Amino acid sequence: MASILLKNVVKSFGTFVGVQDMNLDVVDEEFLVLLGPSGCGKTTTMRMIAGLEHPTEGEIRIGDALMNDIDARDRDVAMVFQGYALYPNMSIYENIRFPLRMRQVPKAKHDDLIRRAAEMVELGPFLDRKPGALSGGQRQRAALARAIVRQPQVFLMDEPLSNLDAKLRASMRVQIKHMQRELKVTTVYVTHDQIEAMTLADRIVIMNKGVIQQIGTPDDIYSNPANTFVAGFIGSPPMNLIAGTAQSGTFSSAGVRVPCPANLSGNITLGIRPEDCQIGGDNLQGQVYGVEPTGDITYLTVRTANKNIEIKAGREFRAPIDSAISVGFDTSRLYFFGEDGSRVGV
Ligand code: ATP
Repeated sequence: MASILLKNVVKSFGTFVGVQDMNLDVVDEEFLVLLGPSGCGKTTTMRMIAGLEHPTEGEIRIGDALMNDIDARDRDVAMVFQGYALYPNMSIYENIRFPLRMRQVPKAKHDDLIRRAAEMVELGPFLDRKPGALSGGQRQRAALARAIVRQPQVFLMDEPLSNLDAKLRASMRVQIKHMQRELKVTTVYVTHDQIEAMTLADRIVIMNKGVIQQIGTPDDIYSNPANTFVAGFIGSPPMNLIAGTAQSGTFSSAGVRVPCPANLSGNITLGIRPEDCQIGGDNLQGQVYGVEPTGDITYLTVRTANKNIEIKAGREFRAPIDSAISVGFDTSRLYFFGEDGSRVGV
């Protein structure tokens, strides 16, 4: 078992900087999720931990050992990718055995290790089959079994569930989390799916354009976003961000008026989550732009002169398009951001 440390890590591709001055400390046994939009540097970060990519600058350590010059195959990490990469002509049993052969684990131990790994992902009855005779979810579980069979120090998973349908993804999420808790292996997991990140992670690292925006527990990231990027990335729909002006303890924008800390002034962005708005109240005046019932929640879009505001209304809420509407905000849950996007007024 091991911690992972990235110290001032930079990865450049020619003149393009894919990862900028990254500092990250993954604690032993932690489940850490790298989350961010396409191209933000998640995979590059993970490939550097795996040894498939070499940092341009900085240090990477696993446990106490410096990894910069250690080959991928000599790092005690196991990777799972979205493409499974199972050998089609080998049985599932032989696929799971492969890393044991590569690592020259004594043959006498193989059967026990393979069966234990297969049990853990509930593939026991499928060991004789070839990958082609398994469903997508079973194939993905076989890839997981192959990663866990030799009990590495570190698991690296790059979007391992993105080929699966939504229902299977949800059930595999639970299995992966359960398995990681049982094996207690330090895990770095890359995804651009915030639900996956929120449900799996002990801590989430949010990245944008090669730069870490925030590191925190899922609760922390949701409740205390450090800047407008994080606020606008997390939540479904994400936080409403409304540009306006603060003066003498009041924030105002077209159709919007709320109290704000007295020390804020000038150009400020107000953040309010869709679930912290209620129909009726005096913080927002606008027109109904869209009403989308989904069963348990009705999503309401309110138009103001500047912006559309998303609101989670009660399941029964209905209103005619273009009708006037007043909305109240839970004023204990307002967020304010300065001109550079970082949180202010806390
Ligand atoms: P995605 O979710 O789309 O996989 P990502 O966050 O994993 O994205 P990376 O694959 O880490 O992103 O890429 C980060 C940036 O570095 C991207 O802009 C990408 O185009 C660039 N990049 C990655 N590998 C190379 C390379 N070998 N040569 C040049 N640029 C690269």
